[in-house]
Amino acid sequence: MPRQMILATTLDELRTARRLLEGTVGFVPTMGYLHEGHLSLVRRARAECDRVVASIFVNPTQFGPHEDLARYPRDLQRDLSLLESEEVDLVWTPTEEEMYPPGYATWIEVEGLTRRLEGAARPGHFRGVATIVTKLFNAVQPHKAYFGQKDAQQALVIRCMTRDLNFPIEIVVCPTVREPDGLAMSSRNVYLNPQERQAATVLFRALQAAQAAYQQGERNAEVLRTLMAEVIASEPLAQMQYVSVADYDTLEELQTISGKALLSMAVFIGNTRLIDNIVVG
Ligand code: AMP
Repeated sequence: MPRQMILATTLDELRTARRLLEGTVGFVPTMGYLHEGHLSLVRRARAECDRVVASIFVNPTQFGPHEDLARYPRDLQRDLSLLESEEVDLVWTPTEEEMYPPGYATWIEVEGLTRRLEGAARPGHFRGVATIVTKLFNAVQPHKAYFGQKDAQQALVIRCMTRDLNFPIEIVVCPTVREPDGLAMSSRNVYLNPQERQAATVLFRALQAAQAAYQQGERNAEVLRTLMAEVIASEPLAQMQYVSVADYDTLEELQTISGKALLSMAVFIGNTRLIDNIVVG
């Protein structure tokens, strides 16, 4: 008999269901509108843990005032049936009211790392992320939690926070899942019209161009940044927000690549903001 997937909405329901889960618990936090990227995290958790918990919550505090919170795509029924097919044990869909009741005043700030890249482009974003992930961790109490390399800086911020706050949780970072033409899967890809969808391959093409140059021996970070910017500029529908070649641990911009480096970018395709990255070294 297949196990039944339990659905929890309130914190009380979540805690009651969590207490009944025996063995190691793997946790996959998401904002829903699930795709193969999310499901790869669920499968990894399924393979490594006795029980798997997923959450679906479009966290308002990680969106800026002019960002896409109101139109962020949602399809709960589809998400639940996908999670059920992956044999998830427990799904938590908290409400905004319960996560952020009137008078809510407590925030988690990770310093340093969060000032760069996505943190610089999206002020307050990582404060929202760190705060919600802390609240989810506290409620779910997993042994392992699964995040995607697609959001490389987020994974580093969560690692730092988990260590600093002494959460007894192992953070597992899983590879970016891509469409056949290289576009990193993202819930936001649904915003793209057919021309934009075609243009969106420019992010991966730029990363690949830089990776090829690196493999041919280029270690000057500015040369790689320029190369990526030129590929992006060649796509009329693309507007670059930033390109970066940064130290993988500190996210400081590099002059010369000597160890592990994160090549990353944020690019607008029409009105849709996409991010992508690869690691070299
Ligand atoms: P989101 O629903 O966008 O907040 O993403 C939830 C989790 O899925 C995060 O840990 C993301 O990094 C991860 N994720 C999103 N897209 C991908 C992808 N294409 N490949 C791997 N992981 C992903």
